[in-house]
Amino acid sequence: MKKINIINLGCSKNLVDSEIVKGGLIGNNFQYVDDVEKAETVIINTCGFILSARKESIDTILEIAKMKQENKLEKLIVMGCLSERFEDELRKEIPEVDKYFGANKMSEVIKYLSSNRQKYDPIYSRSLMTKPHYAFLKISEGCSNKCSFCSIPIMRGKQVSRPLDEIIEEANYLVRGKHIKELIVIAQDTTTYGYDLKDNVGLFDVLKELDRISKVKWIRLHYAHPDHFDERIIDLISKAKRIIPYLDIPFQHVNEEILRKMNRQGNRETFTKLIREMRNKIPKLILRTTFMVGFPGETKEQFLELYDFIKEVKFERLGVFKYSEEQDTSAEKYDDNIPEKVKEERYNKVMELQQKISLEFNKKLVGSTQTVLIDEYDKNSKVAYGRTYMDSPEIDNNVIIEKELNEGEFYNIKINDFMEYDLFGEKNSKIK
Ligand code: SF4
Repeated sequence: MKKINIINLGCSKNLVDSEIVKGGLIGNNFQYVDDVEKAETVIINTCGFILSARKESIDTILEIAKMKQENKLEKLIVMGCLSERFEDELRKEIPEVDKYFGANKMSEVIKYLSSNRQKYDPIYSRSLMTKPHYAFLKISEGCSNKCSFCSIPIMRGKQVSRPLDEIIEEANYLVRGKHIKELIVIAQDTTTYGYDLKDNVGLFDVLKELDRISKVKWIRLHYAHPDHFDERIIDLISKAKRIIPYLDIPFQHVNEEILRKMNRQGNRETFTKLIREMRNKIPKLILRTTFMVGFPGETKEQFLELYDFIKEVKFERLGVFKYSEEQDTSAEKYDDNIPEKVKEERYNKVMELQQKISLEFNKKLVGSTQTVLIDEYDKNSKVAYGRTYMDSPEIDNNVIIEKELNEGEFYNIKINDFMEYDLFGEKNSKIK
């Protein structure tokens, strides 16, 4: 059995692709090894989103290519968004790579490595690379929006929604077959799910069906787009049994002129109205969002409008990106670029504000008892790391408990201390 290792870079959508390749190869008599040094074949699933992500992908390829030069590796395969876009350039620069595949080419990779012994099913042979108690559920691939700054549609193509019954079949298999307790619903834009399907289904229908799966504890929704938000979903989440009051909805900016240049809709008024309605109807709602600073032409006033909006809304979870000009995107035509120094200043100003907002939010949680899902127990430091419903894996905060607790189990944790982001607590009881 050939030993393989997969290095996944980039987003959770890429991770699902890596998991499908991993499962498909294990099903074709490959042995998966966690230690890249022990592998005979290494697959790098690359990200091409922005400059820093491309740099990380190239550095990783070069690092593994060195193993090939030193005859420590038989095969090096590169797949994903970076090779989807820059295969020719990569081939010239890094000839050590045996084969390049684009994005969404999981079956081609499996066929190539397993000499066409095609026996895998993207649902049933998917092999998770997350912790064993949570999994990402990708409901569509690609994106048909044309946000002017974004290169994802260039790499991932137009949106292709998966059939509803296939999504529910996979969800049931993950929950009943793999005992997943937390399902995280993802796509490039989850709110346009079904727009490309003939049968009149949408995200509302996906969530309604998922909420019926009795054994799952938490269903978490990511990548909602404010322009396409079906307000029936607000009522659905407010009454749901398993869909938690957590919503990731990147607004990107709030100034009308900047949003138009981003080829997005909305403004401060419409966003405030949507957020107010969500918070009024969904108790304990946690809003995660993403903003971009330094978009071409962003004046000081437009930035301050964004800053004031963040100060007023007090998002519980927030990420910021500095605009990075992307080749072949429509925003590339704008030449009134903001100096890097100014972008950095605006980025830091928003991060400092958000730290204060997060600190205030955490302060109010001291004394409360939270349901916490344990992701990890570190035997050396004797510390357990977990998450409340308010925290999505890998991107949000942790609850830190100095006690041996079981990974993948839920506990009632009494919060007794806090920092800007993380909370500290002690075990109250285990939840059955
Ligand atoms: S919604 Fe916009 S930002 Fe998100 S992937 Fe699609 S084009 Fe890119």
